[in-house]
Formats: sequence, structure tokens, C-alpha cells
Amino acid sequence: MNKKILCSIQSSILQVMKQLDQNAQGIVFLVDEAEKLKGVITDGDIRRAILDGFQLSDDIDKIVKDNYVYAHEGDNIEDILQKFNYMIKFIPIVDSDQRIIDYYEYRQRVRMPIAQPQIDGREYEYLTDAFTSTWISSSGEYITRFENEFSAYCTTRYGVAVSNGTTALHLALTALNIGPGDEVIVPDLTFAATINAVLHAGAVPVIVDIEEEGWCIDPKEIEKAITERTKAIIPVHLYGQPCNMKAIMEIAGRYSLRVIEDCAEAHGAEFAGQKVGSFGDIGCFSFFGNKVITTGEGGMCITSDKQLEERMRLFRDHGMSKERKYYHTVVGFNYRMTNLQAAIGVAQLEKIELILSWREKLEELYRAEFSKSSIIKMQENKLLNRKKITWLVSVMVQGDRDRYMEKLKKEGIDVRPFFIPLSEMDLYKQYVFSDTNSKRIAKSGMNLPTFHKMTEANILKIGMIIQKTAAEANSMVEI
Ligand SMILES: *Cc1c(COP(=O)(O)O)cnc(C)c1O
Repeated sequence: MNKKILCSIQSSILQVMKQLDQNAQGIVFLVDEAEKLKGVITDGDIRRAILDGFQLSDDIDKIVKDNYVYAHEGDNIEDILQKFNYMIKFIPIVDSDQRIIDYYEYRQRVRMPIAQPQIDGREYEYLTDAFTSTWISSSGEYITRFENEFSAYCTTRYGVAVSNGTTALHLALTALNIGPGDEVIVPDLTFAATINAVLHAGAVPVIVDIEEEGWCIDPKEIEKAITERTKAIIPVHLYGQPCNMKAIMEIAGRYSLRVIEDCAEAHGAEFAGQKVGSFGDIGCFSFFGNKVITTGEGGMCITSDKQLEERMRLFRDHGMSKERKYYHTVVGFNYRMTNLQAAIGVAQLEKIELILSWREKLEELYRAEFSKSSIIKMQENKLLNRKKITWLVSVMVQGDRDRYMEKLKKEGIDVRPFFIPLSEMDLYKQYVFSDTNSKRIAKSGMNLPTFHKMTEANILKIGMIIQKTAAEANSMVEI
């Protein structure tokens, strides 16, 4: 036991304050010469006593109450846990002679987050460098470096860093001149930013169904939904899975459609050996805190088309002419990323292969755990030509998905349901073309914790909770 938590009952208020300052726990246990427990004092108790007019030189026993909480050696642990609340974080334990022998400390239960940024590389070093350079706004060498290095990683020529993934999509649509009167085809299962960007551009979204196996936009549905107003397709590489880019690019070519890839969840994924984001006219990425690599908030548009790059820079930077300061040629935005964010991005990109590799290993551990399960179906990872990456481990659950989620959450395990299909929200219903697979898949899908410090034991625990919940559900059916 840490003796710094003990203090003599004969102390003055000042002496107790010094002890509190030393142990930094916010609490002391008051004892007599035989270490028998006589009271408990917190820094809040002292504060209240001083406000009530007590002097620092007064004896501490004047302010000790006798209804303090403690436990006896051998007490039932459940009973002791009951005594903890938001005020009481430490409980002394005494033996039969009232002598203090130990104490319980309340600690936050082990929690498994759904995701956690891994910023243990050179992020802090580069961030400080950017900070001390005073280039903390949206010019600076880290911006240029991040744009060049990330676009090179994706095998495109140009990168235009932006404030987030949503502005990346809107900027791409704007640069491609897509607006009122145009239709843009989007998948039913995606994060709503995809369709919101289309609506902000003033275009009409057309929502189509996803593939049964890959969960990504279905090329057959794309082709069915095309009209003479269709201008573009936004394939979303959902949960790390690349779309069928061969079929999509072939359709786009045949109907002269633009393609904007939403790669927010699939940094580094490949189709037929080629990186996502490099197939369409523009690839859009997000670097939000839970994505594969992060800059806090941030995004990027990548392209190999010089004209598109220039148009994106123009719109990103207020539409201001490069030749003539404060002369505006288009109604632009301020969608810039800061040099501070880019500094973090450069450091993140340095270890993207490492990040992708631990993510993949984690997913393999999950696969092994669920390989014999009849309840959990892991996301497909062996589709022809598609090399998926692991963003959030994604599974489909047989039975009542919400019940499994509830049980896992109760144990401190952060799980997420799949996105709600756009077709199921009043806001977007009017834009639906087809939505059969998406409804079924979304209803039973969930994302499981995918963070760097996750262990095999963590995954085992998740597997056990799922099994137990299934067993309970079965026995309920039998009754
Ligand atoms: C995260 C995400 C976005 C939006 O990115 P932000 O940086 O949060 O604006 C867009 N599309 C998809 C599919 C996403 O997952």
C-alpha cells in the first residue's frame, strides 16, 4: 500500500493539505498511532472547511465526519463496488481491529474503442517544426510535401489538400462543373457526406443498390440508372473494399461520364494492382481521426489531370486569380488545409504501410476467431482483382444485431452499426433508384474495434461475448 495516502489524525489542516499535495490522489486516510482508521478527508472537504472559516492551523479532527465510507477485509467485492460513485473513488479496507490494511481504487473499466489515431511516429516532431517555423496557416512546406507524397503514394500526379473529406468531394464536383440539372449516381450504403456533397453542388443524386458480395456500388445498377442527364458516378470504396473499377470505368467510358472516387475509407486499397483514387477523374480522401491515416480533420483530392488540379486549387483558394491578387474569376471557397495538419499527415504517411499491416493482421485474428462461427460473417476479402485494406473490421451478424451490440457495449466494447442506407432516411428517399441489398446488409452489419493496441485477448473476449449472447438467444427460443 502507498503510505502517502495515510496521515495522522493529530495533524493540522495545513499538514493534511501538504500530504494531499504529495500523494496527488485528492484523498488521505486519517489514522491513529496504531494505523487504525479514524476518518477520510478529500481536498474538497478541506476547501469547504476553509470556506466555512476554519484556520489552516486548526486540528484536522475538527472537520472529520464519522459517516465516511470504508470496507472490511473479506467483504464481498460486489458489495464494495456498490459503494463507488462519482464522489467516492477510493475505499479504505480495515481488518477486525479497524487497522487499515489496503484500499480499493476505482478505475475506469477496460474499454475498447472502435478506433484510435496512431500518432506515435514523427507527428509531434513535424508539428512542432511547423509550429516554430510560424507557418501555421495554409502555406508552408508540409502542405506541398503532403500533397506530393500522398498523390505519389496513390500513383497520381497531383494532390490538392483540403479541410476534410466532404469538402474534397464538393471541390471535385465543382471542378468538374457538375451542378444544377446534372444527375450523379451514388451508392445507397455510404456515409451521408457522399450524397450531401452532390446536393450542395446543386446536382440531383441518384441512389443505386450495392453488390451482394462486395457491399460496394453495383455496376449493373449504375448502368440501369443512367439517363441523358447523368454526368458522373461516385463509387465509394466502402469499409476498405475497392469497388469493381473495371466495370465502372468501362460504363463511364461508354456513356462519357465523370468518375469521382470516394476513397475516405480505403487509403491504399487496390483494384487489379492499381491504387484506388487513381482510376477516376478525381479521387477524394478523408483524414478524419478515425480513418486509416489522419490529420485530425483533413482531406485531399488527387488527379493526374493538370487542368483539374488547377481548377481545384482555384476553387479551394477563394477563386482568386493566380496572376492578379484579389481578382476573382469564379465563386470559390476556402477549403484549405493548414500546414500544421499537413505536418501530421506527412508523418502519418511515412508509416502507412505499417498501419495497414497491423490493421490487416488484426482482421486476420478476427477471421480466425470467427472462422467456426455460424453467427458472424466477415467482410469478403477474396473478391476477384480486389485487394481490400482494413479500415474498421466489418461483419454481418445473424439474428438480432442490436442485441449483440447492446451486450458488447455493456462490456465497454465500442461497436458501431453499419451506416443507415440513404434510402431509409426521409431526407434522401426521393432520390432512390434501387435499394434491395443495401437494406438487408446494413440491418445486420456492424463494425468492431480496430485500434493499434488491440490484443488477441481483446478479440477473444469479443468472440466470447458474441457466443454467450447467441447461446442466451437460443435458450430463450427453446423455452
Ligand atoms: C468519412 C467519410 C467522408 C467524409 O469525410 P470527412 O473528412 O469526415 O468530411 C466521406 N465519405 C465517406 C465514405 C466517409 O467514410
